Amino acid sequence: MSDTKYIFVTGGVTSSLGKGIISASLAKLLQARGYQVTIQKLDPYINIDPGTMNPYEHGECYVTNDGAETDLDLGHYERFLNITTSQANNITTGRVYQSVINKEREGVYLGKTVQVIPHITDEIKRSVKLLGDDGEFDFVITEIGGTVGDIESLPYIEAVRQMKWEMKDRCLVIHLTLIPYLAASGELKTKPTQHSVKTFLEAGVQPDILVCRTERHLDDDIKRKIALFCNVSKEAVIESIDADTIYEVPLLMKEEELDKVVLSRLSMPLSPEPDLDGWRAFVDKLKNPKREVRIGLIGKYVELKDAYKSIAESFIHAAVSNDCAVELVRIHSESINEDNVTELLEGLNGVLVAPGFGERGVEGKIAAIKYARENGVPFLGICLGMQCAVIEFARNVLGLEDAHSTEINPETKNPVIDIMEAQKKVTIKGGTMRLGVYDCKLADGSRAKATYQEDMINERHRHRFEFNNEYLADFEKSGMQASGINPDTGLVEIMEIQEHPWFVGVQYHPEYKSTVANPHPFFVNFVKAAVELSETVAN
Ligand code: GLN
Repeated sequence: MSDTKYIFVTGGVTSSLGKGIISASLAKLLQARGYQVTIQKLDPYINIDPGTMNPYEHGECYVTNDGAETDLDLGHYERFLNITTSQANNITTGRVYQSVINKEREGVYLGKTVQVIPHITDEIKRSVKLLGDDGEFDFVITEIGGTVGDIESLPYIEAVRQMKWEMKDRCLVIHLTLIPYLAASGELKTKPTQHSVKTFLEAGVQPDILVCRTERHLDDDIKRKIALFCNVSKEAVIESIDADTIYEVPLLMKEEELDKVVLSRLSMPLSPEPDLDGWRAFVDKLKNPKREVRIGLIGKYVELKDAYKSIAESFIHAAVSNDCAVELVRIHSESINEDNVTELLEGLNGVLVAPGFGERGVEGKIAAIKYARENGVPFLGICLGMQCAVIEFARNVLGLEDAHSTEINPETKNPVIDIMEAQKKVTIKGGTMRLGVYDCKLADGSRAKATYQEDMINERHRHRFEFNNEYLADFEKSGMQASGINPDTGLVEIMEIQEHPWFVGVQYHPEYKSTVANPHPFFVNFVKAAVELSETVAN
């Protein structure tokens, strides 16, 4: 039997308290002490995965190496820990029920009535223990989506109750709650936390540690009061004050000794101290940039903070590498047209055109790309952004006026972007795109190769359409080169214009692979080009 410890992170009072960041921060502190740690997210909704959800519902859909379409919290886990996650790190109620129902049909439970307890709860426990089974990890941290008390969360909370009972001191529960500040009375209020812990107790779970989100410091009296009402020791009441950046949270949790409380509860040694030198240096640079560049983020969900999460975070990593800050200027692609594009984009040091699906905002993206191409503004196009760059080049350089993607105009005479052969027969929507990592061979002498400094890379994908290779010779003759190609299928992965100061389109999603420890080379290089442009303009 492996000796893996299981830590659950639950939430109370409201959602959006930052369970993902607290989980990732604790994991970081344990990892910095030399432990092997992984994090998992259990989502109580009935979708099999978030891949079929609109960004308005769910924010970004994060894609793992093995092609799982997952919750964006997995992005935080990877960025903080510099590890890769997989399908096993994100389980939904839909997936749990699907597995139980499949087993029922196979006859696994023959003779039995299949019920929430024990069959659904067993399946949840199985999914949690799966990560710890082979002993690879010292800690498995499991974040439970939603809030304690939600109808949807009940089977998960019951599974936690059972695991705590079965595993005794190998299992621990951290409950994240809110301590609101009432301006009118000038007081921090503990009552919502007391109620939330009571609800948790009704379900049979006594949390071991309370992490309290707050906008004001919690003094000793308040900590003592929370401890008294919630049956935890005062040291186990951890303040989580609002931070300037999520990357500061591990340092704040270190000051509050969250890791020490966890280790002592699990009867584990308290030394050595975590080595956070690299992390501290990163946060220090992040908070003290030497200069700033402005990069336009063009997409159709720009008003939604979480829709392009990994792109925004990749820019933070790349900014620190370049000793600068990146101000992301979010511009709605539907608001851009040929007439206002100069006014909207003038003064930007770089333009990123975001991934996406469907027709809405595509002409605005194309207008923005034309502006960037013609004015020598550094440009990075991701997935649909790359496809739009191909369409723009076909129309305005090759003179193919009606060039388009068949996703948007199935009747076009010049389908420069077309559906992939393997996608033609696909009718089911969930999990059927070209997903996950694929190899890409980089062309000699290209910007791509100079950036990665490797012959062969692999990157993550999520798409159905591709560059139409029938047009490749025409593109290359006119200066747009396919500088990255999948060696097995010939699918074009990277298009670049060498005559331009920095113009790259990628069919894959570099943003999913950027981490604090390993900023993505394309983002680093793109921001560098933006810095260079800003300096030329300034001189
Ligand atoms: N809609 C495009 C496709 O399916 C691009 C997808 C994306 O940007 N992720 O190919």
